[in-house]
Amino acid sequence: MMPTLESRLKDEANVVTSNKPVPLVKHTRSAKRGRQRAKSSNSSLVTKAVKNAQADQELGAAKVGGEVDSIPRRGGFWGTLVGGGLGLIVILLVMLRQMDQGSDASNPTQGAIPAEYKPDRAFGYLTDLCNLGPRPSGSSQMKKQQQSLTNFFEKQGAVVRMQSFEIRHPETGAPVGMSNLIASWYPNRPKRFLFCAHYDTRPFPDRDSRNPRGVFVGANDGASGVAALMELAHQFSILPADVGVDIVLFDGEEFVFEQGRDDYFLGSTFFAEKYKMQPPAIPYQAGVLLDMVGDRELKIYFEVNSLKYARNVARGIWDTAEELGVNAFVSRSRHDIDDDHIPLNQIARIPTVDLIDFDYPRPGFGAPKYWHTEQDIPANCSGDSLAAVVWVVHQWLQRQ
Ligand SMILES: [Zn+2]
Repeated sequence: MMPTLESRLKDEANVVTSNKPVPLVKHTRSAKRGRQRAKSSNSSLVTKAVKNAQADQELGAAKVGGEVDSIPRRGGFWGTLVGGGLGLIVILLVMLRQMDQGSDASNPTQGAIPAEYKPDRAFGYLTDLCNLGPRPSGSSQMKKQQQSLTNFFEKQGAVVRMQSFEIRHPETGAPVGMSNLIASWYPNRPKRFLFCAHYDTRPFPDRDSRNPRGVFVGANDGASGVAALMELAHQFSILPADVGVDIVLFDGEEFVFEQGRDDYFLGSTFFAEKYKMQPPAIPYQAGVLLDMVGDRELKIYFEVNSLKYARNVARGIWDTAEELGVNAFVSRSRHDIDDDHIPLNQIARIPTVDLIDFDYPRPGFGAPKYWHTEQDIPANCSGDSLAAVVWVVHQWLQRQ
């Protein structure tokens, strides 16, 4: 029996069996900190929202106070105080209501999305994936997903291979097989680009206050990136003559049963280590990670680590979005998120950006929170959001 603390990594052909202790640990530890950072930056956003609300209240108070003050005194000091207090409450209620008002699927683009990018087709992929049920690493649903995606990408003209390795289940210690799916188009062309997403779903919706051990189908956190890449694959018949592409779907992004104990980014870290140890003849010029891109109220801000490691790639994508009038892309940074792009940037040195809308469905005090809950379902996603992202990414690729 193998030591429980040492996970065995091997590729699918058994060509390389790493005898080293898991090289993942160092990076995933920082990754976990990153997740916590993402969370705390989220809570600092809440704090910020509260601060803004307070500032607005103060402004409101000043205004109400001013108005009350300009009216001939009727109630004197106490009347002013009560009037001001009531005014404050009214303003606060109006503000809360505004913040919690979800627009119906806000339009991600100023004009129409060109006909070759098909929102319904993309949304169909997302719902098909969710209809498989939860797809955590090592599950039978994950196997089914791998088979149908292999068929799909082969039909789109790709050569598909699985990059497999094994880990220990964080709870039971039993071996769990993991596989990244790699679909390649035109591998010998001089400019290669990487498009990626994770295709495993978190084992449980542990941020669901009502049912943290319930059913998690990961419509946005899991299926959306995959569905967008499936839609993108339809566009690969039109590519510049010198451009080749790989779509890589990472396993084990969040095979996490206990926050703070279990490692994130297993698949992308394995992929990055292999890329570093056995560099390909033609390296990637850039990578684009898609995660949580299906939100019906899509707003994709610059992600801080993407700017740090791949500023030019980020700029190029957001500039393309601006040119196309895809206003779901906002040219401001917002969250600092560790995701699968961290090992790609830090280990493989592939300049990779993370396209992620971390406010699901929207930021704000009193807004619902669907991330890692049972509410991460197709009804809270939209085909227009997926198609808008695919449009931008494909047009950016056309310009390389
Ligand atoms: Zn997640």
